[in-house]
Amino acid sequence: LLGHDLIGQRSGTVRRANLSAILRVVHEHGPVSRSELVARTGLTRSAIRALVSEFVAAGLLFEERAVPGGLPGRPSPVVHPRPEAAAVLAIEIAVDSLAVAVVGLGGATLERRRVERPRGHLTVDEIVADVVGLVQAVPVLAGGDVTLIGVGVAVVGVVRRSDGWLSMAPNLGWRDVPLGARLSSALGLRLPVQVANEADLGALAELRRGAARGADDVVFLSGEVGVGGGIIVDGQPLTGVAGYAGELGHMPLNPDGLRCGCGATGCWETEVGERALLRRAGRSPDGGRVAVNELLEAAAAGDPKTLAALDVEARWLAIGIAGLVNLLNPRAVILGGLFGRLQPYVARRLERELRRRALAAPRSTLRISPAGLGIDAPLLGAAELAFEPFLSDPASWFGRRGELADAATA
Ligand SMILES: [Zn+2]
Repeated sequence: LLGHDLIGQRSGTVRRANLSAILRVVHEHGPVSRSELVARTGLTRSAIRALVSEFVAAGLLFEERAVPGGLPGRPSPVVHPRPEAAAVLAIEIAVDSLAVAVVGLGGATLERRRVERPRGHLTVDEIVADVVGLVQAVPVLAGGDVTLIGVGVAVVGVVRRSDGWLSMAPNLGWRDVPLGARLSSALGLRLPVQVANEADLGALAELRRGAARGADDVVFLSGEVGVGGGIIVDGQPLTGVAGYAGELGHMPLNPDGLRCGCGATGCWETEVGERALLRRAGRSPDGGRVAVNELLEAAAAGDPKTLAALDVEARWLAIGIAGLVNLLNPRAVILGGLFGRLQPYVARRLERELRRRALAAPRSTLRISPAGLGIDAPLLGAAELAFEPFLSDPASWFGRRGELADAATA
């Protein structure tokens, strides 16, 4: 016999799970009719009505009566997110730039700023101060009209997700930095700060809102100076034991190769990263963004030396991608950052090399495409990371708006 308390607890758990399911649909798909919510969650019409009214009372969603469009039956009200009622602060620390965004419930970007920064190794203090300055300059936060519920950070480094510990970022020159804790105290927002690798977050964003939407098995490959990756298996990010998985750029592919920033030799990054490409094209490997732009212009103009370098780039890309395709059988390989920009020049050689190197069966269902969100993919992924605790258990946030608004302006 189940006691009333136990039944009560159980129905409480079910209610929380159902609220989470509804909020996820609205967050990921935008405005949806109640009938679509029924179809997507498997809940009954009356359950949807009751649960949506909880969100409406909490100020997170609003309903709009559908305009009768001549369709038979009663029109189903459309459920909309209120982006300002639950927004997150997303931060990206990249090699060439810093970016912040405020992203509202439903995925609307309410504010976005990116500033270029010189390459070279700045200290953690310097970068944290720059990030805080950038956040303080965001008007939508100063106005107090937005309720922040979390902070997500994308960084070019190897990160332990549980506490935002950055174990190394060779291209920033950092090692063993408690980045989550440092940003949390510097921002002073009294909100959870979650940190993850930028390529992992790029993968998450492409999966939810970009080129990989609808696919459950995806490899996101992001190239800049460093090469990173994010792997989604069966809809879930592949994290490994402590969140370090997916360091695609550090797959050891060339035993006779160059020394990598991580200390090893012949990592994939040393063959396909920005420095390798610039070097092969006869440009300064440290020329940075300007040199890459010039290289792309030369490629567009048909410069033979540049095209030859891109051919070698395509070959090394194919060597790594063939291994990933055989290992993971992904639906899509998404090329982000530098690789997205190179895609028009490397696509044909890449295809040809993959026919030689990857198994025919997993190749037959594979799609290779440039990132749909462009340079902002990791930043938008950081936003999705910050939304996660809220989406998993929205009920625990009901009634906290006033309290959060106080924290944000404190
Ligand atoms: Zn390496």
